Amino acid sequence: MKFQAIKGVRDILPPESALWNRVEQAARDVFGTFGFAEIRLPIFEQTELFVRSIGADTDIVHKETYTFQDVPTEIDALKKVMRVSSQDFLTLRPEATASVVRAYIEHGMQTLPSNVKLYYMGPMFRRERPQKGRYRQFYQIGAEVLGTSDAPGIDAEVIEMLMAFFDRVKLKGATLYLNSIGCKQCRPVYVEKLRGELQKVREQLGPDSQRRIETNPLRVLDSKLESEQAIIEKLPRIAEHLCAECRAHYDDVKRQLGLRGITYQENWRLVRGLDYYMRTTFEITAPGLGSQNAVCGGGRYDGLVELLGGPATTKGIGFAIGTDRLVLSLQESGACETPGGLDVYLAWFGVAAQAAAIGLARRLRDAGFVVELPAVEMKFGKSLGLADRLKARHALIMGEDEVAAGVVTVKHLADGTQQKLAEPELFSYLRAARNG
Ligand code: ATP
Ligand code: MG
Repeated sequence: MKFQAIKGVRDILPPESALWNRVEQAARDVFGTFGFAEIRLPIFEQTELFVRSIGADTDIVHKETYTFQDVPTEIDALKKVMRVSSQDFLTLRPEATASVVRAYIEHGMQTLPSNVKLYYMGPMFRRERPQKGRYRQFYQIGAEVLGTSDAPGIDAEVIEMLMAFFDRVKLKGATLYLNSIGCKQCRPVYVEKLRGELQKVREQLGPDSQRRIETNPLRVLDSKLESEQAIIEKLPRIAEHLCAECRAHYDDVKRQLGLRGITYQENWRLVRGLDYYMRTTFEITAPGLGSQNAVCGGGRYDGLVELLGGPATTKGIGFAIGTDRLVLSLQESGACETPGGLDVYLAWFGVAAQAAAIGLARRLRDAGFVVELPAVEMKFGKSLGLADRLKARHALIMGEDEVAAGVVTVKHLADGTQQKLAEPELFSYLRAARNG
């Protein structure tokens, strides 16, 4: 019996995991400077939370969730499960905004002063067709601002933070796309107009888009189907149908992005097909990812808190970065040399040297050096060969002579030079070597 990770799910191994850590740490650092704090959320929630928030008519809820009954899964109980009919289904989260909002309401965060700024990171689950940049367990880093204000300055600052993060991780060639999709007042008028126009060209559309004329015409704009592109380009655009308030909000978001020196491209087809999404929507693409090139999606969702039973006055905006794709793009651009590595391979020979080496290893590690200490004594050649293969920067050699003289032999493995140093000199030597 050989076990394998299941389809669409993968292991992230060293040294790639170091890049993941670097990316996640950059998010913590950058988001922290904007006053965001981390929220840690459960990985599964009541199915109903996602049905309500994401919507029953989306691909995600319709056919991509991992949903199971909330019953004990001892083998005996499992047998019974097949006959149990329970409403208590749980779902592995396909995204985290719904959970953040659920937590916001559950913990009464609306009583906190000012806007609540939270970020999260962790795995999401969608049963999609696996391909490059698309997995069934994938990771997101996201942030949300919840509160009574929907000032355009919030939208602009959230986007500024995002771009600052992409800068920090040295993502090259990121493009920001921006749109406004109106509000409860102006969008329905536009949607009806769109529906009318789509009806006229119904016969030229594929089955998915045909169905969406009735269920959700906005989502037709999302279509990637080659044969529909020319038709979609001729459809009426939301920008010409925004109400005065939405127009003003959108104009101010753009003005405030300008103040922050952030460049963007407007894309009228960038929609979120759900009612509670309002006004600002945005997406960021990155190179090197083929057709899965979106590394981040976000937008304003002013109706969501109310929809999930919270105060109607709470508004929200947020984004989710696809960490898998971000890491892929960084790898493709070669901007991901893994720093660190082994500073020291501490070869010891003889019982007395082993005792001394154990002590020295501890002091080196306390000082932050990465140390490999062989667990068993080896022949000199074999030990130094291993130091080479592990790509250690230095081999420290401790034999009886060194112990007696109170020094260690330090061999710089790249050029083979070696010298004998006492401990204080050793530490300053290693520090200098590390810094450059
Ligand atoms: P896409 O159009 O690529 O399917 P989406 O609209 O489903 O993306 P969102 O739900 O907005 O994406 O999620 C935000 C980000 O999460 C995406 O921009 C993407 O980077 C990432 N993402 C979404 N689904 C997956 C997946 N199955 N595998 C890897 N990353 C994903
Ligand atoms: Mg998707």
